[in-house]
Amino acid sequence: MADYQQILNTIYNELLQREDKGEVASYIPELAKVEKTKLGIYLNRVHGDNFGVGDAYTKFSIQSISKVFTLAMAFANQGNKLWNRVDVEPSGNPFNYLALLEQEEGIPRNPLINSGAIVVADCLLSTYDDPKAELLKFVRQLANDNSIDYNPQVAASEMETGFTNFAIANLLKSFGNLENPVEDVLDFYFHQCSLEMTCEQLSNAFFPFANKGVCLQQTPCLTATQAKRINAILLTCGFYDEAGEFAFEVGLPGKSGVGGGIVALLPDNFIITTWSPGLNEKGNSYLGMMALEKFTTATKASIF
Ligand code: GLU
Repeated sequence: MADYQQILNTIYNELLQREDKGEVASYIPELAKVEKTKLGIYLNRVHGDNFGVGDAYTKFSIQSISKVFTLAMAFANQGNKLWNRVDVEPSGNPFNYLALLEQEEGIPRNPLINSGAIVVADCLLSTYDDPKAELLKFVRQLANDNSIDYNPQVAASEMETGFTNFAIANLLKSFGNLENPVEDVLDFYFHQCSLEMTCEQLSNAFFPFANKGVCLQQTPCLTATQAKRINAILLTCGFYDEAGEFAFEVGLPGKSGVGGGIVALLPDNFIITTWSPGLNEKGNSYLGMMALEKFTTATKASIF
């Protein structure tokens, strides 16, 4: 068996030496002040041990990675009805792109770009009296960890500066693809983005996607088919306009966020989370992408 701890340590030490680390997201102060030198990797093997290195146990803003949790909740809840309101095609465009939404008459291309995630958020608002409490409960259960919480300062800053997200939500509303008031949907959406988790917690929370829908505590939370479909969306849509590059370099389904986190998984095998806040020009973690490329090269573990 591969010496996973050794592999993670080697990748960590190599990457930490690099001068180039990408640029930390600066659109809100809470993200801009995170140190570039942070780097964590955590590997959770579905049928084996777990391994962590560096800052794998430090909480960070999961941002767009939260879109996978809300998608799982809405899909489990609504089943295939969900696809009447959001499509499953890669966009090939940045996460907050508006033009496609106009061309496609208010049906977002996929649930992992902002427009799609805002429609998913709207579905959850229509389903639950207190969607913020429900989402927190769901994520805490998945990770088996009640310390997970929202960061209210991050959510408030996003609300103050999220003009493009307001434009997206208004456009969705104008096409009749938003049931609830724009402010309420965005308040929920900005809260989901503000969730703070560690690499370890994220790897644990993604367990059902690698384990045919059954979570870490062995309780079913999705059907095997739903887990399969979400993995397909992660592979084709999880990295903004860099999904092709991630499949090419790393070869795993995954999701990134502008807080510098990336979660990737090999079904029936492992979940790996990296965190390094410096981003490349497409908004994906610069060192995180490299760490995952090195990991799948060293272990030969990819879906291809
Ligand atoms: N809160 C960010 C936004 O909606 C999330 C962006 C991201 O992680 O891609 O603009």
